[in-house]
Amino acid sequence: MVRIVADLHTHSLACGHGFSTVTEVIRAAADCKLEAVALTEHGPGYPGSVGYAYFNTYRDIPSEMFGISVLKGCEANLMNLAGELDFDENHLAQLDIVIASCHKEVTPIGTIEQNTAMYIGAIQNPYVDIIGHPDFPLYPIDVEAVVRAAAARGVALEINNSSPAARPDSEDMCAEIICNAKRLGAKLAVGSDAHYHLVVGNFDYAYEMLSKYGYPLEQVINSSMDKLLSHLKRNR
Ligand SMILES: [Zn+2]
Ligand SMILES: [Zn+2]
Repeated sequence: MVRIVADLHTHSLACGHGFSTVTEVIRAAADCKLEAVALTEHGPGYPGSVGYAYFNTYRDIPSEMFGISVLKGCEANLMNLAGELDFDENHLAQLDIVIASCHKEVTPIGTIEQNTAMYIGAIQNPYVDIIGHPDFPLYPIDVEAVVRAAAARGVALEINNSSPAARPDSEDMCAEIICNAKRLGAKLAVGSDAHYHLVVGNFDYAYEMLSKYGYPLEQVINSSMDKLLSHLKRNR
């Protein structure tokens, strides 16, 4: 049976609003029989998160622990309406996986046209693998335009398992993203967005939404390690 084999979105104590160590996160992923977990700490633009030195020191963490792969990445912030990130391309090129997301603490809120252009700007960045929680109702977008741009660039859009709790009323946008992605052949990714290790590997909401709107699990980039690694390698 096809299933999600990697949690691509996790946080740790380091960001200032997480509650587990990276070791606990990795062990939790191994305990729920995943094959990989991505460490995707908030970028330096997020108030209270880590600086660049954190990402430069990932080398000390093994790429395999407790029998699973450890991907060392970030959740970069969209910093302006052009969709520029809080990392330059040299930094991003050194990471295994890059999520780019809007956060109200740092990302300006524009009109629908501006928000759409902002996401499309981030999608043009060759090192962005996944757009994080594009179902954020605080940033209304032309969903079809964003999905089209993502499909054209081979960037995955995230179905974020924490959205119902973290982004109230996001379900309609999530549904619209899934339906457009299905129709336009865009890739999706699933992540827990865990800020505590007990939430790592919880994909219940994502599974429910993907099945409800008929998006084939086989087209989710983290439904097999082969698919995942070829997605991550595509521009590296
Ligand atoms: Zn966070
Ligand atoms: Zn986020």
